Amino acid sequence: MRFDEISDELREKARKCGSYEEKMAFIKGNEIELTDEQLDLVNGGSTGPHQGRPDCPKCDNGYLRKTGRERPGEILGIFNDVERRCNICGYTDWFWW
Ligand SMILES: [Zn+2]
Repeated sequence: MRFDEISDELREKARKCGSYEEKMAFIKGNEIELTDEQLDLVNGGSTGPHQGRPDCPKCDNGYLRKTGRERPGEILGIFNDVERRCNICGYTDWFWW
């Protein structure tokens, strides 16, 4: 099914998925079809220089760690986005897992 066809019940389950493994298992287990753009995201493709990588894009030494903050998913739509912050310079971004 496509993302916009997902039932409320499944959306609720999706929001509880935290890790990359849980989110991937959800996508595969529910046979969810991804758009090309979403596939790029999932495969760590053309989504900005640092998506999927923990290296900080602003400083050479830092790396991005989850802060524990979440927001309703704007990146992949159904999963909550998580905030990441550089342990050295404080740079933050949002990521899909
Ligand atoms: Zn940094």
